[in-house]
Amino acid sequence: MKLVSTDMSKENLLKEETLFHVANGYLGVRGNKEEGTDDPKSIRGCYINGFYDTVELTYPERLYGFPQHAQRMINLPDIQSMKLYYNSEPLGSIAEYERILDTSDAITKRCIKYNVDSGFITVTYTRLASFTNPELFLTIMEIESDNVSGELKIHSGINCDVQNYTNPDDPRVAAEAIKHIQPKSAQKLQDGGFVICETTGSSLSFAVVQRFKADLGKIETKLHEFGTETEISVNITTGKTITIEKYTVLSDSRKQSEPIEYALSVAEKCMNKTAAAIIEEQKKYLADFWELAAIEIKGDKEVQDALEFNLFQLLQSTGQDGISSIAAKGISGEGYEGHYFWDSEIYIFPFFLFTKPDIARAMLDYRCSILDGAREHAKIMGHKSGALFPWRTISGSECSSYFPSGSAQYHINGDIAHAFMQYYYATGDLEYMEKKGAEVLIETARLWLDTGHFDSKGRFNIHAITGPDEYTCIVNNNYYTNRCAEANLHGAAKIYRLLKQKGTADCVESKTGITEHEITKFEKAASSMLLPYDAERDINAQDDSFLSKPIWDLSKTPKDKFPLLLNYHPLHLYRYQVCKQADTVMAHLLFEDGVEESTIKNSYEYYEQITTHDSSLSRCAFSIMAARLGMDDKAYEYFDDVIWTDIRDLHGNVKDGLHTANLGGSWLAVVKGFAGMRLGEKGLCFRFTKPKGWESYSFNFCYQKSVLQIHVNNENAEVILKEGKPLEIFVNDMQINLDEVGIKVIQSLEFTFKT
Ligand code: BGC
Repeated sequence: MKLVSTDMSKENLLKEETLFHVANGYLGVRGNKEEGTDDPKSIRGCYINGFYDTVELTYPERLYGFPQHAQRMINLPDIQSMKLYYNSEPLGSIAEYERILDTSDAITKRCIKYNVDSGFITVTYTRLASFTNPELFLTIMEIESDNVSGELKIHSGINCDVQNYTNPDDPRVAAEAIKHIQPKSAQKLQDGGFVICETTGSSLSFAVVQRFKADLGKIETKLHEFGTETEISVNITTGKTITIEKYTVLSDSRKQSEPIEYALSVAEKCMNKTAAAIIEEQKKYLADFWELAAIEIKGDKEVQDALEFNLFQLLQSTGQDGISSIAAKGISGEGYEGHYFWDSEIYIFPFFLFTKPDIARAMLDYRCSILDGAREHAKIMGHKSGALFPWRTISGSECSSYFPSGSAQYHINGDIAHAFMQYYYATGDLEYMEKKGAEVLIETARLWLDTGHFDSKGRFNIHAITGPDEYTCIVNNNYYTNRCAEANLHGAAKIYRLLKQKGTADCVESKTGITEHEITKFEKAASSMLLPYDAERDINAQDDSFLSKPIWDLSKTPKDKFPLLLNYHPLHLYRYQVCKQADTVMAHLLFEDGVEESTIKNSYEYYEQITTHDSSLSRCAFSIMAARLGMDDKAYEYFDDVIWTDIRDLHGNVKDGLHTANLGGSWLAVVKGFAGMRLGEKGLCFRFTKPKGWESYSFNFCYQKSVLQIHVNNENAEVILKEGKPLEIFVNDMQINLDEVGIKVIQSLEFTFKT
């Protein structure tokens, strides 16, 4: 799809900076104007996923274990500027303007036609963050003249005089302005320059190399206090196009031992390759991505395009290097300070698991890379054994300063364990479990044993934690958390036993000291897990005390009081039955085994009445579960909000970055919602439905190293084995064998609806 805008208005400037950003999982550059803007609100941003500074957290009353520092993804030097001067004057009056983002090649273009004297100068900026050379941000500036001749000067450079965006009134962005980077040295090159910087708090370093190619132009670089400034002089005449290529390469010390050496070598390699070749590589990379990632919707092109935009943004946002993941806002903005949450594993991981398993594995590797940090965190939180993953972090330390809706969200352990188990169920890759996964599963399982206890009736309780709903904090036996813990304990035991059977458990035994005796304890706790249930209403209670609280009357809450978190004290919210987001409904989505249909349905109806969806993580879960329960119209209504959240800025804060969990939610809403996919111990299952307004929808995915296609139209659902070995799946609990490539299994939708 192409996102096209001719909007030059100030109101939409920040939103467009996010929507038109370019990123490749490592580098993210907001869609700021190369020529600059006089709008002081513009958030001019360039980020490296996982690269951070540390800031002190101050509390008037610091209690034991409160984190002393938080990590913050920092705004790196401004590398975007390419200002054009004609007769020493900046170009001003604009005759035509257009900006395009193309998801088929991950390239954006801005085309500006300026009025100049008797003619026009048209400038086109083409930019990309290269997927095949992740440190490279490439800009190509093309200048065409229509009846204008003379000398043009272009000013560019590396400007380290930058800060992060702050807003003290919004808890979702940083509150205080701090200078995070210090230039340490800079040097001129024949065709550009470079700068080496350090961060003020985290003592990390990075290098930025910038080199230019200009047709018949003169390139001159000066150094200044904050970096480099390069001036390029070219002569223009009517009918001639001038092309200037700018190769900016960033490298950081989390990834490379010598960032400057590395950046210089990447810049050299890329310049030798040429911009045209890099664009070709980019096109090929994207074409491969879309082979499996595309969802085709016949009968609603708009929706298909919106989905494509969302899935594309997931690719742009997700780290592939095993030391980064996907931040709540990706690398498109500074909301949530570049932190990784449970969003990664529960909302985004499934998309990659089924369409680009290498990225999914890199996301798991990232969690393995911070396992020691999680062990440390567990100790701080008073645990004698196990690992507790921080609620929000970049490189492994807890960055949440408000523990009731931060560190108390122990479910993150279960969410991560769930992703490891899903990976195993989708790929059968026991070797990965042996080398890495089992250790995470065992350490997270241990944490539950250490946190919970058996009550007098022999039930395993987990007290004083917070579930996904951040309007209800520090509770006992949150249903979602207990289900996560149950699955985590069970999964750890299962994987251990499989390794034992295969004779390959030594590695995890020596790393963790796990024994058969401890595994038996995992199993006992899992099978005795207390899962709150209210028999009168036939629903799962969100936690032990939730249903005894008064119900918040959402119908009487003025519209301008939403989101509630910005308008009511947390304690006030905690005293009511009111949910920020899907909690028990989310539990039924992930763990439906053993729950009665009536309980799932009643719970959905109950919690829907008291959920504000103040978090963008909520609506996709309600869409999926509405589809699961046969409430097709409702499923579609929620889905409609999900897919347009960012493009239409439905939460009014796209300026701070994309809502990446919700982007993942849009894939989930189709695949887990309308197609009803579930993956578990039993295998891969579907329950097909189809939105009324669509003629058909289809998507591909990989499972057990085979490639499958689903196609659903008005009458049927087809499952096709496109590539790979025979396998079985389940449709409405019926086992279906796909014995040969090309075999189609056709399931009547009529039949589907009746079950
Ligand atoms: C949600 C969390 C989420 C976080 C980051 C919060 O508003 O309540 O569930 O992890 O945003 O997206």
